[in-house]
This record gives sequence, structure tokens and C-alpha cells, in this order.
Amino acid sequence: SLSHQVVVVGGGTAGTTVAASLLRQRPELDVAVVEPSEVHYYQPAFTLVGGGTYDMDSTRRAQKETLPETATWIHAGVASFEPNSNLITLEDGRQVQYEHLVVAPGIKLDWDRVDGLREALGSNGVCSNYSPETAPYTWECLRQFRGGNAIFTQPPPPLKCAGAPQKIAYLAADHLRRNNLAPESNLQFYSGAGALFSVPDFVPHLQKVMDRYGIGVNLGHDLVAVDAERKVARFATTDSNGERTEIEQPYDLLHVTPHQTAPDFVKQSPLANADGWVDVDKGTTQHTRYPNVFSLGDASSLPTSKTAAAVRKQAPVTVRNLLARMDGQALSAQYDGYTSCPLVTAYGKVMLAEFMYDGVVTPTLPLSPFSESRFYWVVKKHLLPPFYWNQMLRGKEPDIAHKPLKS
Ligand code: FAD
Repeated sequence: SLSHQVVVVGGGTAGTTVAASLLRQRPELDVAVVEPSEVHYYQPAFTLVGGGTYDMDSTRRAQKETLPETATWIHAGVASFEPNSNLITLEDGRQVQYEHLVVAPGIKLDWDRVDGLREALGSNGVCSNYSPETAPYTWECLRQFRGGNAIFTQPPPPLKCAGAPQKIAYLAADHLRRNNLAPESNLQFYSGAGALFSVPDFVPHLQKVMDRYGIGVNLGHDLVAVDAERKVARFATTDSNGERTEIEQPYDLLHVTPHQTAPDFVKQSPLANADGWVDVDKGTTQHTRYPNVFSLGDASSLPTSKTAAAVRKQAPVTVRNLLARMDGQALSAQYDGYTSCPLVTAYGKVMLAEFMYDGVVTPTLPLSPFSESRFYWVVKKHLLPPFYWNQMLRGKEPDIAHKPLKS
């Protein structure tokens, strides 16, 4: 049977960063990464692909180029965890033994939660930036749109990059404005959440962007069905008497953000908390019941907004604490909840929301976090992708503490 000192489940943003950083600091470590996919995607650029301003090919790299050279790549998916025996079982039945385990398989996109969505997706105006197969089709839909109803949906939490569902609405609105199609277009944003954004400080500024474009904001509306034949989207909502009602809205373009949940094999494992996430300490990223298990990224219970930017700050903490534990020392590194969301508000403009646990705003640079900045657009489109591939995924990112915004 297979056996490794450190086994990392998932070779996405978090798993690759942690594996690379461990091997950079301790080249003699025996690290294996279990990853079924041949390809690593830079998902934050999917928004720009859908907006027609980024090449899909530039979002992907071969897994064997992105995984650290000296790690063992186990090219398979994990089926189950047996943490009491320090074992994982692969989908092909093989078992892998570990001394330490890092769990980072990301979040599950639950396309089947919405009736008719899987069949509708990818044709007749139904698109989504959330998967690499469908993000290019978003741009095709926008280019072909000649006025009518454009609907943008967001599921109730949890979801990764909670700003992405509205970013594409802003790019679409800006595109239509530039092509003089805005007067013939009715843009509506439907969200299953109760607010436009989870951090209250940003809400009035984002509402202003919605108002500027004339995008209708419908909160507390959860997409339940897509009828591709009639081109109608059905939403569930709770009326003023507290009763659940359903409404139907015709669409010409429908951008869907799918419902999201913890991956099934995580949910069903002894590692999960009641909500299905890998149950870790919010500071150390160590498992609450299995001390040789750590988790970070979208699959973890870390109570922050799920982004690659958050992983960038979580990974150095996980690595420092894992090495401390191997050395028999106390875990001293603490994650502060840092996350960030570059809210694309137009072609050439980004409002960079950076915050920590409890929604405390924490800008890295001395610029107003609430302004729509050309500089942050350049950061998002041109600086972050090479930073991601060449620094972060190589485990070169240092551990820098953030400070709250003084108001
Ligand atoms: P992932 O990077 O998704 O990696 C999970 C890995 O686990 C994958 O490689 C997968 O193949 C693998 N895996 C799956 N199942 C198994 C299994 N059974 N066994 C083993 N491995 C498995 N973040 C930002 O910071 N800024 C943004 O602007 C931004 N925009 C986004 C826009 C969109 C449209 C999307 C979809 C995401 C965006 N994100 C953004 C979010 C960001 O991409 C994720 O939060 C980040 O990639 C999470 O890292 P992760 O390692 O937890 O998961």
C-alpha cells in the first residue's frame, strides 16, 4: 500500500500552494498530492473570460507543470477518509497511509439543485462563469444580445467568490452601454442572500453601482427552475406574510451562479462539521478532533469568504503549524480571516474589497477601499495571474499580517 509523510488532498489553489511551500522549507519531506484533474485553472479570471476580456487558454496550465516537481502526484480522486487509521481510500480502491493530512478539495458546484439547469446550460442564452466549460459561452451570449431581459443569479450562501455573480452583471451592463443597447435592455440581479454583499461597509457603494447601470436588485430570491423551452426562470421567495411563493421571469440571457456545498465525500466523512465542511480551528487551521489533519480553502470550515486571496493568507499558517507539529512544538501561527474580492464594476474599474473575520475592512495599500479604481483593474487583470502562477503556487508567498482600516 502507498504511504507518505504528508498527503495533500486536492491540487488546486490551496493544495498546490501548501505542498510547494512545505517542500521549499523542507526539501527532504515526502509529500504526495492526490489530484484527479490533468489541468489547473486560474478561476479568478473566469469573470474576465465571460466578459470577453481574457483568453480562456491563459486560465489553464497542465497539472504536472503546476504541482511541485519533488512532490509525488497521485493521479486519482479521494473517495473516503478513515482518520482513526490515518488512511484515505481512493476512488480506484487503493489506500494511502499518512502521518499528516492536508484536506483541500474545494467546493462542489451543485448544478442539479435547479430543475432543468443542467439541460439548459450552454445554449439559448443560459450561461455561467462558474465552470471552464461554460465561461466562454457567457461572452458569446453577451455579444449576441440585442436587448431584452438579462437575468443574473446568485444562490444563497455558501459560494466561492461571493462577488462574482454581480461582477458579470456590471460587465454586461457596461458592455451594453458601450454598444448603445442599454435603453432596450432590462437587467435584473436575483440573489438568494439577504444583502448585496456580506460586509455591510461595501453595500451602499455597490448599490450605487447597481443604480448607475439601472440594474434591478432582487434579494431573497432563490433560483429553483429554468424552463429552457419557454425561456423562463423560476424563483422562490418569502412574501411579507412569511409565506413561500414562486415567481416566473422571462429571460433572453440568463447568467447562473450554481448552488454550492461541501464535496459529498467530505460531508460523509468523520472530518466534517454539521454543515459538511472540514472542521478546523479558525486560527490554526488544524482539525478540531484529529490533530494530524489540517484543512484550508473552500472545503474548510474557516468562517471567511471563500477565495484564492484567502488561501494565500491561510497557506503560510497551515504550513507553519504543520511543521511546528512535526517538530513537537506548539502551533503559533494564526489566520486572521483575511480574504479579498476584486469587485469588477466596469471594463477598466475594480473596487477591491479586503476584509478579515467579522467583516473588518483591511486594505493592503493606502487607497480608499470603496473607490472604483483603474489601478486595481490592472492588478486584477495583469499582475495577479503571473503572481499566482509564479509566486503563490510555488510556495514563495510570505506571511504578512494585516491591520484593520482606521475609520
Ligand atoms: P480549488 O482551487 O477549486 O481546488 C480544488 C481541487 O481539488 C481541484 O483541483 C479538484 O480537481 C480537486 N478535487 C476535487 N475532488 C477531489 C477528490 N475527490 N479528491 C482529490 N482531489 C479532488 N478568488 C479570488 O481570490 N479572487 C477572485 O476574483 C475570484 N473569482 C472567482 C470567480 C469565479 C467564477 C470562480 C469560480 C472562483 C473565483 N475565485 C476567486 C475563487 C477561487 O478560485 C477559489 O476560492 C480557490 O480556487 C479555492 O482554492 P481550493 O484549493 O480550496 O479549491
